Amino acid sequence: MANPVVAIVGRPNVGKSTLFNRIVGERLAIVEDIPGVTRDRLYSQAEWLGKPFHLIDTGGIDFDDHDELLESIRHQAELAVDEADVIVLVVDGTVGITDQDQDVARMLFRSKKPVVLAVNKIDNPQRLNDVYEFYSLGMGEPMPISGAHATGIGDLLDEIIKHFPEYEDDEYDEDVIRVSLIGRPNVGKSSLVNALLGEERVIVSDIAGTTRDAIDTPFTFEGQEYVLIDTAGMRKRGRVYESTEKYSVMRALRAMERSDVVLVVINGEEGIIEQDKKVAGYAHEAGRGVIIVVNKWDAVEKDERTMNKFIADIREEFKYLAYAPILFVSAKTKQRIQTLLPKVKQVAEQHAMRIATPVLNDLIHEATTVTPPPSDKGRRLRINYATQVAVKPPTFVLFVNDTELMHFSYQRYLENKIREAFPLEGTPVRILARNKS
Ligand code: GDP
Ligand code: GDP
Repeated sequence: MANPVVAIVGRPNVGKSTLFNRIVGERLAIVEDIPGVTRDRLYSQAEWLGKPFHLIDTGGIDFDDHDELLESIRHQAELAVDEADVIVLVVDGTVGITDQDQDVARMLFRSKKPVVLAVNKIDNPQRLNDVYEFYSLGMGEPMPISGAHATGIGDLLDEIIKHFPEYEDDEYDEDVIRVSLIGRPNVGKSSLVNALLGEERVIVSDIAGTTRDAIDTPFTFEGQEYVLIDTAGMRKRGRVYESTEKYSVMRALRAMERSDVVLVVINGEEGIIEQDKKVAGYAHEAGRGVIIVVNKWDAVEKDERTMNKFIADIREEFKYLAYAPILFVSAKTKQRIQTLLPKVKQVAEQHAMRIATPVLNDLIHEATTVTPPPSDKGRRLRINYATQVAVKPPTFVLFVNDTELMHFSYQRYLENKIREAFPLEGTPVRILARNKS
């Protein structure tokens, strides 16, 4: 389920972020551009030889300002050891081994996690001799790379994916609904978790979660099994990096990836701020079911227009989440907390919705008859056949005469037609055009 995590570690200026950008660069270019989503160059998805993974540049995380340099590198390494499946230690081939390199190498060595040693700034073959001294770090074969010139990156990635775990823990049964909460600090995520689990008819099972850290909380409500993913991540665990904002975003992203439904929590008292948009953008991109939860509604001074105004703001700021239902709740007074789980269940069902091929084709046929595709330079898009290829989220492939003729606005029109015919509230829908061969 969850993709492996690769962390890049090393002292400043060795070229970590250059390497990070090299690895994720291509993917970022093809990802759909979502207006309003500010991209974080610290944590990204990447892929090599068909294997998707997450990449973290630990150098991009600001730890405590008062940290000495060495402390801050140690915190990076500590985080990488805790979170990553494979660690890439980057060193600078033009400088040679420093005390800090040695210190980090020792920490990583003790952790027994797989480490790949990348010697950066080997910009030309003459520099290859600079690589040998790095054998003495005891991290195996040093791999020469040049982030600046994009050389050696393929070999490095080959080596990285060799260390991916064979099997991901198979986690939970298909019909268990996996839920996570994301939102910036202090919006009330932990309070909501407590309010949810404290509901009268919610039965929390005392068997700890089956994942490594036993950080999930399984429970039952009205005969349906659920699991709250990474409940521990919502408690402050006291490590230095736990309190840093970027770390908590990263952690939430991973929780989100393991979920069916994500509750995007907003602080009703403060309204929407930039960081909320980033979080919501991630939720959309992850392809999970999404519910927008406006918390602390008790603390909002209201008149009869307040809620509608808030809804209008959300729709304006999170345009790409038009499909997400919005709930106004209070973890403190428990107002409407009882509406959360029924909504989660409903969204999970839509997220797993399957539309039979004949029904889908009738629908597409009718839609193209009512509003034919616009023609482009005398040529018109023809859709020969449509089929649903995946659930979670529902993903449709349209076989067409020429994919170049499928324009975004027409695709949006077809999505709306599918949404009119089927209850797909809360779930994104993916439509892919393929050339009929
Ligand atoms: P970070 O602090 O480890 O993230 O390092 P950066 O990626 O910011 O790079 C630090 C400096 O090294 C920058 O000036 C980069 O342009 C330079 N740099 C990065 N990779 C290479 C490389 O492969 N060769 C050379 N010559 N310079 C590089
Ligand atoms: P988290 O950082 O998102 O997990 O937020 P917490 O659950 O720790 O809550 C942050 C603060 O908001 C705490 O002081 C809570 O008591 C308060 N809070 C949480 N939910 C509500 C709510 O529904 N109404 C009000 N008035 N305060 C709340």
